[in-house]
Amino acid sequence: MAEHWTRRARRWASKAAMPAAVLSLAVLLVRGAFAQSADLGPARIASWTFLVAAGVWAAVRQVTRKLSGARAPARWTVESCALSAVGALALAQLGGGLSSPLYPLVYLLAAVYALALPLRFALPALGWLLGLDAGLFLAQGTLLARWPLLAAHTAFTAVFAALYHGVLAARLRAARTAEEEAVSRRVADAERSAREFRLVATAQSDPERQLLAAVSEIEESVRGALSVAAAALQPHTVAIFLLSPDAATVRLRDSISSSDRLFRGPLPTREGALGAVLAAARPVLLQGDGPALSHYEGPAPAHCFCGVPLRDRQERVLGALVADRAAPFGPAEEQVLTSLAGEVVRAMEGERLLAAVRSEKEEKARFFHALEELNRTTTVAQAADCAVAQAREMGRLDLCAVTLVEEPARPGARPRHRVQAVLGDGSGPLAGLSFADNPGLVANVVRLGAPLPGRELQAMERVVIFDSATAVRGLGALKIFPLRAGEATVGALVCGTRRRDGLPDAAQAGLGMLALQAAAALVRTRLFEQAERLATTDGLTGLTNRRTLSVQLVARVREAQRYRRPLSLLLLDVDHFKKVNDTHGHPAGDAVLRGVAAVARSQARETDLVARYGGEELAVVLPETDAAGARAIAERLRAAVEGTAHATEQGSLRVTVSVGVATWPGGGQTPDELLTTADRALYRAKQTGRNRVESGPGKAAA
Ligand code: GH3
Ligand code: MG
Ligand code: MG
Repeated sequence: MAEHWTRRARRWASKAAMPAAVLSLAVLLVRGAFAQSADLGPARIASWTFLVAAGVWAAVRQVTRKLSGARAPARWTVESCALSAVGALALAQLGGGLSSPLYPLVYLLAAVYALALPLRFALPALGWLLGLDAGLFLAQGTLLARWPLLAAHTAFTAVFAALYHGVLAARLRAARTAEEEAVSRRVADAERSAREFRLVATAQSDPERQLLAAVSEIEESVRGALSVAAAALQPHTVAIFLLSPDAATVRLRDSISSSDRLFRGPLPTREGALGAVLAAARPVLLQGDGPALSHYEGPAPAHCFCGVPLRDRQERVLGALVADRAAPFGPAEEQVLTSLAGEVVRAMEGERLLAAVRSEKEEKARFFHALEELNRTTTVAQAADCAVAQAREMGRLDLCAVTLVEEPARPGARPRHRVQAVLGDGSGPLAGLSFADNPGLVANVVRLGAPLPGRELQAMERVVIFDSATAVRGLGALKIFPLRAGEATVGALVCGTRRRDGLPDAAQAGLGMLALQAAAALVRTRLFEQAERLATTDGLTGLTNRRTLSVQLVARVREAQRYRRPLSLLLLDVDHFKKVNDTHGHPAGDAVLRGVAAVARSQARETDLVARYGGEELAVVLPETDAAGARAIAERLRAAVEGTAHATEQGSLRVTVSVGVATWPGGGQTPDELLTTADRALYRAKQTGRNRVESGPGKAAA
């Protein structure tokens, strides 16, 4: 108990110390304790020490409080003012009393009060200053005699204070007006350019600009609503606060206010009158009797409050529109605020909708771009690569593949599947993967002609996508679309993402459409490739046909001449082929021809060109091959044919070939000259016994 009282007493003492000191110093002042005097007695020294110590104390506590980041109590300001008045008058006293040359210090102090303090502190401080001055006259008993001097002091002090206050206020007002003008000019500029952005906005335009345009549009609505509210309600403050996305805090979005102490936030959602609006999600009217207005720094300047929530169509609270003033608000005014809140929310929702439409537009543009790219492809490989790349971009996929059904070798046989193109995570082992029909998802999609899986897969790791030997790890969502063209399914488009929610319905719809277009592109390029093959290959042997050989030979001879690299040409003719036909029939002859063609192809290198030149004559073009090399290859070819038995309906048959070799440059300069040389060499081979190789003039040249 005693301790409690001690603590209270100490607290009281610490609060009372400075006022007591100031009052004591004021009494000393009035009694002339600071005046100039011949004897510098201990009383005078003590008075001055007391005054200086009090001044230092007041300054030190103000500075330490400031350094700690806290605000000094208003009491301290009052005490410091009072002390400074005593100090100034003490100096004047030291300088010679009431008509001292140092007296202007007092006027200066009055100006400082007017400059540095709010009016509610400045006026009492001036009163105290003049009161002390009058006290000095009284104490000297000269009030009646020297009243004009006191009047002059008072007038000068008041004039100084008023002058400074007036100048300061005017300058502040001018600065604020200039700033407001600049801000509104900037806002107008931004809004105009935002509208321009909107007008020129295309699917490809910068999304950030569009976002800016949207924000500016909302800002305009917010501003408009605030202006209407300010005009209609004449409030001290009308402000819009918006909730953070997690609804944990609320921030000032915009305001029209006579106060510069509106708290910008973040504020806790549940605090004060604003918190009440957000928590109740309905209008709150306070006639100065409810929870405090917590959205000001320090005490609120007005106590009547009207706040309405900003609620969207789903009844979610987005923030609040609040107003306050000295006079109570009525239900009609609450209604005004509610309508304006509706306007603001509509603007916000409108912008959200616009953004959605815009992103849909962008989605469409991306789809048409994909179509364009697909339409430009000319080979199956290109079409598959393009489909995979476009699908990956459209669906933001982590894995994407196109598989194609391979024509079964025999009619009625089970199809095989081949991964034609693949992109993304873990695509390495999938590239070129070929697998037989199986119960996996890809094979099922092709069989059913419908997308799979139908619903979300639980154990994604155990799902067989391609074949059971090929594991695909790390996917969270998967959809496989059939590549359907007409009635046929030519393959599948495999789309996977790591995120479980990575394939929403909209993305699936887009990918499904893309799959349709990709299938059309694949069929088109496949037909194109087939037509090209038909036009360039020989139907019986599958070798390049004579027309294409002619074109190719011209090109390769030109290349050899340009790079000065050797080039050889072989002409093969089956020996006594008429006899095969005559003995075993034309079909057996055909089978033998196919067999010889296959041997020639198997012996040729990747860069060689094997063509059917005539009935049972073949031509082989050998780039980068000189006469000796060509002769060796021809010999190997001849031996291979000799060593091969061809299965025919008439049983296994064997034939031999004679070969003529010509080499550029020795064997001729043009394709025709080379052909003639090779033909002559072939003739020589026939003449000299068949089943042998003869070189043209190329041999002599080499
Ligand atoms: P040589 O050793 O002198 O070349 O004797 P050969 O019997 O092969 O004589 P030649 O090259 O003049 O005969 C070509 C024969 O090849 C004529 C034709 O009946 C046969 N022939 C040409 N084209 C085909 C074909 O497409 N299929 C079949 N079965 N026979 C063909
Ligand atoms: Mg012939
Ligand atoms: Mg022949």
